[in-house]
Amino acid sequence: MRKKIVAGNWKMNNDREEAFKLTSEVTHMVEDEVKGNTEVVIIPPFVHISSTRKLVEGIAHLHLGAQNCHEEKGGAYTGEISAGMLQSVGCKYVIVGHSERREFFGEDHEVLSKKVDAVLASDMIPIFCCGEKLDSREDGTQNEVVAQQVEKSLFHLSETQIPAVVIAYEPVWAIGTGKTASAEQAQEMHAFIRKLIAEKYNQDTADKVSILYGGSVKPGNAGELFAQEDIDGGLIGGASLKSRDFTDIIKAI
Ligand code: PEP
Repeated sequence: MRKKIVAGNWKMNNDREEAFKLTSEVTHMVEDEVKGNTEVVIIPPFVHISSTRKLVEGIAHLHLGAQNCHEEKGGAYTGEISAGMLQSVGCKYVIVGHSERREFFGEDHEVLSKKVDAVLASDMIPIFCCGEKLDSREDGTQNEVVAQQVEKSLFHLSETQIPAVVIAYEPVWAIGTGKTASAEQAQEMHAFIRKLIAEKYNQDTADKVSILYGGSVKPGNAGELFAQEDIDGGLIGGASLKSRDFTDIIKAI
């Protein structure tokens, strides 16, 4: 059975006090209510990982993640953080290839494939983001765009490695815009991604990969999205900053 995941990407938000309050509130809810094969992931900025770890440590179904890492193990890369460092402070997940990293930091297929390798080599789980921009959706080339992102950064992995990756389909036009892909549009793309994996590897392997949806998920639309056959949870941005909204989204899974 595929893992269900709700992950909250805080992006560059929250000071120390806000981080502590939000994490405490989410921790209490997860401790009381999350069961089965569901995992909740809190993904704060790097500086809050160690302090939030103290709150989430030992809580079943609750894990920490990071928003990015460098592809090299270490060395003269001022300002960067390696996958090994993240693993050593308690991260289980690392986002790779968020559209904001692609857009503002020029991350391309090649560097993202190296980041995926670095995360796996440190025994963590990459949350690999893919998704088309509005112009692709409008001219109907969204499948080609997403296929290229997935193939170029993930398909060098072996059949045993690929189920250790979580994929997040995040149409760029839906991130932080308040526009959500309809449940039908999202399901269609998730099924397409799973088919790509089945064609490259096999159906059994494809059925093991958790594929999350991201893009303006809110308590009001989470239930319908998560009910789709190939949607295994969500990567949540804005709504993960409010504990009430985030915990309501968790309840929807
Ligand atoms: C995200 O940043 O991954 C995201 C999905 O953001 P939002 O939920 O705010 O659209």
